[in-house]
Amino acid sequence: MDLMSNESLFQEALTHFPGGVSSPVRAFRAVGGTPKFFRKAQGAWFEDEDGVRFLDLCMSWGPLILGHAHPDILAAVTEAMSEGLTFGAPSRRELALARRIKQLVPFVEKMRFVSSGTEAVMSALRAARGFTGRERILKFEGCYHGHSDGLLVKAGSGLITFGAPTSAGVPKAIAELTSVVSLDDLETLERTFAEIGSELAAAIIEPIPANNGLLLQRPEFLQRLRELCTKHGVVLIFDEVISGFRVAPGGAAERLGITPDLATYGKIIGGGMPVGLYGGRKDIMGVVAPDGPVYQAGTLSGNPVAMAAGLATMAHLTPAFYAALETTAAAWATAFETIPGLRCPRYGSLLWPLFQDGVRRSDAVQGGAISTYNRLHKALLGQGVYLPPSGYEVAFLGGAHGAPELAHFQQAVAAVAKDF
Ligand SMILES: *Cc1c(COP(=O)(O)O)cnc(C)c1O
Repeated sequence: MDLMSNESLFQEALTHFPGGVSSPVRAFRAVGGTPKFFRKAQGAWFEDEDGVRFLDLCMSWGPLILGHAHPDILAAVTEAMSEGLTFGAPSRRELALARRIKQLVPFVEKMRFVSSGTEAVMSALRAARGFTGRERILKFEGCYHGHSDGLLVKAGSGLITFGAPTSAGVPKAIAELTSVVSLDDLETLERTFAEIGSELAAAIIEPIPANNGLLLQRPEFLQRLRELCTKHGVVLIFDEVISGFRVAPGGAAERLGITPDLATYGKIIGGGMPVGLYGGRKDIMGVVAPDGPVYQAGTLSGNPVAMAAGLATMAHLTPAFYAALETTAAAWATAFETIPGLRCPRYGSLLWPLFQDGVRRSDAVQGGAISTYNRLHKALLGQGVYLPPSGYEVAFLGGAHGAPELAHFQQAVAAVAKDF
């Protein structure tokens, strides 16, 4: 067999792909060094192309709540594969997964499967626009909703006015349909609804914002957003691509006790395969084709192999599973906090190791806290622990992070703590 090292693979990758990667943060630009090429993975561990083993705290950014290569998922996928990889037609596993989702999230009365979180959000917004007949949308600074044009947007120069693109290639005309408000800023939220509430089709938020660190919101902020959306006829969309089926069986909506009109899912519902989902109120979902005038389609949507992986994952997600994960995650946060100066905000199994006291807004994150994180990333990598390769990302724990893993982590942390 051709034995290649991470370094030589990355040198070749640079000749094929922008930055040598298929998604930007994987390039290790934030933390420095050469990205690890994963050769194989099992449970909470992976081996890189140099044959070195690492404890994984990134877990493919969230889908692997049961760990890498879980035997039940592999068995389900193998069975499904033997019956065909894709049909481009209805098949029974879509129904089984839909049934399970409705059991856990009752407000999802009707849903549509897609192939990524980006697609789920993009499609939910189109449905909201079709339903309301309005064009503008509201998002929150520091929330990530995938890479569709209208969401790669930050607040423009005026306070509430029009959004500005955060990426080259996004037309100004599209960005201007998105208004952006800071998280944890009730006053601007009120003013925005007072001024443009009647023009908004949708407000979208990560109820547990976990893509710019973990920016936990005060419950009253989300509650007020719910009230304002109801008052102004605005479709409230919870983007639960990370939080869905992670922070509780019914996701953030259940744990916070707030019901959105639509929600988007991804990551966990695909069990490691590409799946996204949007759904919610049946009157809103009624606008989606072929029932209604809002077009949305997908060659591989409802893919039977992906449905099988999702189903096998969801079968494990019982209240007892979450209760155990909560205890595990608390112990890991405690272990993180033995590093001098480190604080570890946590929500369920989402952890944000940060060298600063908990923050609620993206603009409150200090550059110094991030550069210290980058140093920690490198130090722990040297001890066989793989943290997300950016200080703005959260760490993901799951059922595969057991007692031996915690012991390895505690040892690694003890070895590096003196440097912080
Ligand atoms: C990951 C993520 C997305 C995008 O999902 P992809 O499958 O990467 O397209 C959207 N919203 C949130 C909250 C996410 O974490």
